[in-house]
Amino acid sequence: MDTYMQLDIYGEQSALDSVKAELLRLDSLLSTTEPQSDIYRLNQNHSAEVDESTAELIKKSLEYCADTDGSLDITVYPLAEKWGFIDKNYTIPKQSELDSLLKNVSYKRVETDGTKITVPDGFKLDLGATAKGYAADRAKALLEESGVKSAILNLGGTVLAYGEKPDGESWRVGITNPESTDGYMGVIECRDKIVVTSGSYERYFVGDDGKRYCHIINPRTGLPADNGTVSVTVVSDDGTKNDALSTALFVMGAQKAAEYCRANDGFDCVILTEDKTAYVTEGLADSFSLTGDGEYEKVII
Ligand code: ADP
Ligand code: MG
Repeated sequence: MDTYMQLDIYGEQSALDSVKAELLRLDSLLSTTEPQSDIYRLNQNHSAEVDESTAELIKKSLEYCADTDGSLDITVYPLAEKWGFIDKNYTIPKQSELDSLLKNVSYKRVETDGTKITVPDGFKLDLGATAKGYAADRAKALLEESGVKSAILNLGGTVLAYGEKPDGESWRVGITNPESTDGYMGVIECRDKIVVTSGSYERYFVGDDGKRYCHIINPRTGLPADNGTVSVTVVSDDGTKNDALSTALFVMGAQKAAEYCRANDGFDCVILTEDKTAYVTEGLADSFSLTGDGEYEKVII
């Protein structure tokens, strides 16, 4: 999943072994670049029989693509490739190139029939926006089976705060300060939650024009999201949902994202904008606190 992961589990070694094996299994199924992976085979052949986990993640992701009206779109891969986010050979595409690639981007064209997935010619899937959240869900299920009571897993921006701390306190999950990414601008106190952050500081390049281009792409325009949002953190007990929504709300931008939050329940979020505002949903009013780092102002939405 192209990231570092840290697994702290209080219990039997076997619990750690099973979680680690599952994360590696998912990585090998979902990679866009490993020739044996489900996604690679699907992207090469436009149709593939995939593992049940892959099929489940694709189906769940498609629901969030529809639910966010295409702000999340798991078919953005041709665009991500063109911008150079896959091979790190960054370029700013011409508008005409984007226009032609946009014809090959629409989650509505992905067909699922059990574990058989089909996409049209020229289409490619990328589950980068939901894979780590799904991995957190799978890890949580394995910890439950193992009878573990306390664990904290950081799957590269996706944190599974499982149970409570061994001393009975809540977990404290930091939200990265976008201006100084080794510090935290705020902390969320929680138990049994998955906390997922998408930030423009995670992967970006500076173009010849001096502008910063981030790895989250607006599937409607083909351009990297550029709406004043710098990070979106989503909290609930459903990792796939959080990961899907953190990316989608980032694409929507603070205004539309706040409207989405008001219209949908079952999750909380913290949206950080360039003007140093932290928009926080009601459910986090008490459990989210500023650290002073980055000097954000907290506004309840
Ligand atoms: P990260 O992988 O950095 O944690 P995200 O969860 O936001 O961040 O996922 C971003 C990844 O998803 C990108 O690297 C790209 O592969 C893919 N992607 C980019 N824009 C979108 C989008 N609008 N919808 C779905 N996937 C996207
Ligand atoms: Mg995401």
